[in-house]
Amino acid sequence: MARRAPGLLALLLLVAGSGLSAQELRLAQVPVSGRTGLDSLARLGFEVADVRMVAGQLTAVIVVSTQTERLLGSRGFAVAAVAGAPPPSALAADTFKVYRSFDKPGTGIRATLAAWAAADTLIHVDSIGSSIEGRPVLAVKIGDSGDSPARPNVLFIGTHHAREWVSTEVAMRLIRWLADSLPRPLLASRDIWVIPVENPDGYQYTFTTTRLWRKNRRPNADGTFGVDPNRNYPAFWGADDAGSSPMPGSEIYRGPAPASEPETQAIMAFHAAHPPVLAISYHSYTDLVLYPYGFRYGELAPDLTVFQALAGTDLQPGVRDSVPASTLSAYHPGPGWTLYTTNGEYTDWAYRAFGAFAFTAELTSGCCTPDSGFYYGFVFPDDSALVNHVFRDNLPLALAVIAAAGDPTATLGPSGLRPAAQRIESLWPETRISLAATTPAPFSLTVRTATGQIVTRNARADSLWRGRLRTSWRSDVSTDGARAVRVDGAGLAAELVTIAGAEEGEPSWSAGGTWTRTSDALVGRYAWYGSGNDTLTSPIVDLRGRTRVWLQFWTKYAGSGFALQQRGQVQFSPDSGRTWSDVAALAGSAPAWYPLRVDLPTGAGAAGGRVRFIDRGLPWWLDAVGVATDSTAVFQLLAAAGGADVSENPVRSDQVVISWAAGTTPARVGIYTFMGERLIATSVPPPNNEYVWDLKAGGRRMPNGAYLVVVQVDGRVFRRRLFLTRAGT
Ligand SMILES: [Zn+2]
Repeated sequence: MARRAPGLLALLLLVAGSGLSAQELRLAQVPVSGRTGLDSLARLGFEVADVRMVAGQLTAVIVVSTQTERLLGSRGFAVAAVAGAPPPSALAADTFKVYRSFDKPGTGIRATLAAWAAADTLIHVDSIGSSIEGRPVLAVKIGDSGDSPARPNVLFIGTHHAREWVSTEVAMRLIRWLADSLPRPLLASRDIWVIPVENPDGYQYTFTTTRLWRKNRRPNADGTFGVDPNRNYPAFWGADDAGSSPMPGSEIYRGPAPASEPETQAIMAFHAAHPPVLAISYHSYTDLVLYPYGFRYGELAPDLTVFQALAGTDLQPGVRDSVPASTLSAYHPGPGWTLYTTNGEYTDWAYRAFGAFAFTAELTSGCCTPDSGFYYGFVFPDDSALVNHVFRDNLPLALAVIAAAGDPTATLGPSGLRPAAQRIESLWPETRISLAATTPAPFSLTVRTATGQIVTRNARADSLWRGRLRTSWRSDVSTDGARAVRVDGAGLAAELVTIAGAEEGEPSWSAGGTWTRTSDALVGRYAWYGSGNDTLTSPIVDLRGRTRVWLQFWTKYAGSGFALQQRGQVQFSPDSGRTWSDVAALAGSAPAWYPLRVDLPTGAGAAGGRVRFIDRGLPWWLDAVGVATDSTAVFQLLAAAGGADVSENPVRSDQVVISWAAGTTPARVGIYTFMGERLIATSVPPPNNEYVWDLKAGGRRMPNGAYLVVVQVDGRVFRRRLFLTRAGT
């Protein structure tokens, strides 16, 4: 609080005192000036529900009361009604076709669950705690009534936020579908739980009093009501005042202490008793599938590739949007911060506390194409067929999550993605390594620098913590000018075939339109920056003799999780730019640099590898762009005394000398093609310890490519990968 100006503090106290107007909550829009404006709205305690372009002006959609609207006006914000939004006053009734309150006799959530449990032996309902007003937090178990430690737990949660009704209806449909249609062997091998209403008091209040109420119904000390249940978990709680608010009147008030709320405590006790391997928390809206971390921009979870396999990527999204006239065709998947940062949030907590692969699904886009003139925001239409679209769109991810609980290493996402094996995620300027969580620490890195020096350094263990399947290690190798690294003891090595970062003197890139050099760089003096609809194309990279090729780049972008039409597209060409294919896509907000690894299967052996970055209106930064390979030969000459060695590698002449420490018995030398075909099999008696491979023997020139040399001497076996890269073949 000490950092704030007195005038702002006075304003905050006024906001805090605005609880009396709770019954007048309505959707409103305010023009903002980019991220600064959005951040200041968050710091004033507003939850930014949406960001749209209205008459060419970036406009935030928020929920206001008469008081908060007046206060925004006094801060210079021009508050207006949202065109096409349904009036909330008409909705505060309990006579809908689809939606039902928690308490409604006969057909409410509580009564419906009781009726289902009475009629169906596969549905069991239990209270896992009580809300502030004494309502039960109900957990539904589908399948066997007993809870077996042999069966992995999977959890689905609806309605942390009271007004997000469609999330409860999706959870209710999921209960019904699992009991009626989930294949029985799968049902019998999982403990599947659904908590359709995490926040029953707030949910009930949206039916009786205020349709757009968000929080629970905690009476706060200052006369306001409510704590945001999705900012109250004890992970990064209160890490800053943008990801949650200390002001009781705020929509994103985090509460007076971590886990201060009985609803939060109920969820925590449930997790302690039934720790889920995977979980989905349903919210609305914005068409997103978010996963940890969300508390800090640029922070990536050690298990990133497991999250990506399930949620998908912007190139291969895991959840489609089939709601008619929706502005988007798929949900954007990404770490929570690609929308905005949050703290005290459920998925960060479930992942950190229990290693749970936990997702936030922000259901539906909020609708609709501009010419439809329709906008529903939080008030998803009371239309069973439309709600069913949302349920059906989200079912494949729910089923993939249930399937993955048996063995997360064998995860198969709804778009066909699987988690990557342990690997080097980025080589330079920071080496990031994703290792099996069981790998002992610490370990050392051997680094080959740009000048050919070999440096050994201990990997600095500054990753946040171990994940469930992977440990993420980072080591700053920028001062080493690292061009290749080997992770000693882990069987991993990688080499940069080429690296570029918009520096002067680099091979020339083709920078179209708005692409320009900027001094806002990750490393060195410059980075690339684009802000229009233009293409940045790399020079041609010779990848002959290279297998397991991948692209590394560091990036940040000033897009928006609410404006997913702004995109960055990454393409690769194996034939110098004649044909291109998409290898990655980016969307959302990423104001901090982070690295991406993109595998390039078509790059293996390509003579004319080329990468291009196509901007689709995304303000976009790129630096440390490199093509790398996992199958590096640069460390093979480092073999300890006694190993086999070769005279050059890659081989550019027509003879290569293979040598080894002389033994006491004849050495057997074998040379194989990379496909395993044996070309040479010979024996060399001691004290001779060399074999000369003539690449023109028999009048036939050995083709360029990768070969394997195997030398067996005195019971030891040495293997060398050899690359022939001679000119003119
Ligand atoms: Zn929500």
